[in-house]
Amino acid sequence: MSSSNTEPTQLGGLSTATQVQPLMPENTIVTVGNKTMEPIQSGMCLMDKLADSPDFMTKVQFTFSKPLQQLHIQPVNFAPEQAESEQEVLHRIALFSSGKTYEIALAHSDRCWSHVFGYKYGDKAKYEGGLIRLASCMVLQDEHDKVLLTKRSQNLRIFPGAWVLPGGHIDLGESLEECVIREILEETGVQIEMQKQEDDQGPSILTYKGREVEVSPYFAYESSIPQRVNNQYVLNVQPVGHLIINFRVKLHLPSEEIPV
Ligand SMILES: [Zn+2]
Repeated sequence: MSSSNTEPTQLGGLSTATQVQPLMPENTIVTVGNKTMEPIQSGMCLMDKLADSPDFMTKVQFTFSKPLQQLHIQPVNFAPEQAESEQEVLHRIALFSSGKTYEIALAHSDRCWSHVFGYKYGDKAKYEGGLIRLASCMVLQDEHDKVLLTKRSQNLRIFPGAWVLPGGHIDLGESLEECVIREILEETGVQIEMQKQEDDQGPSILTYKGREVEVSPYFAYESSIPQRVNNQYVLNVQPVGHLIINFRVKLHLPSEEIPV
């Protein structure tokens, strides 16, 4: 993927009001298109909600609001004037603390639960409750683009002993950047320093051993796993939905100088 896809785009001219409350204070939520007040539920297909064509992959813009704990996704050609309430869209997007929008590729798996259900029963699943959970996944590179993988414990139920990219769930109250840094520290021991702007607005300065660290999301995919009871998939049980955001994290040092 070319690096031009990962450059953040500044949202120009939007004020940052602070009186708007999170939609659901207990959860990180995902909203799409012009539905900034409507959390998408796990089991619904993000791609269906975003695009008319059921493509496997599409390019989207996303912005994450730390105060709102809300990730908002919209098609690249999204026009706010088409939204149901332009003011509401702009107002909420303005609250996104990083103040920047990323353009990334978004894909769903061929096991997208909504589609599996649809093919089998000729209808999309109807789900109640259950929000999509956010997780991060990091391609941690040294200055020569060597990638660090971690090995999963043999005791884990899912993929024991597998070599994987470091990553994990985004905790409540975290920004995406904070999650990336915490997970890298927890899983690799690499401690990236974060220097926030004085007003906690705008991008933070990230460094490792005094060198600048580049952190940019480039790809996200929808992972929706139907739940099983007695070893059988059960259609009327809420599937567990995740949106996994992949970040490229580049350290400007050779791997020999990055103890893990
Ligand atoms: Zn899907």
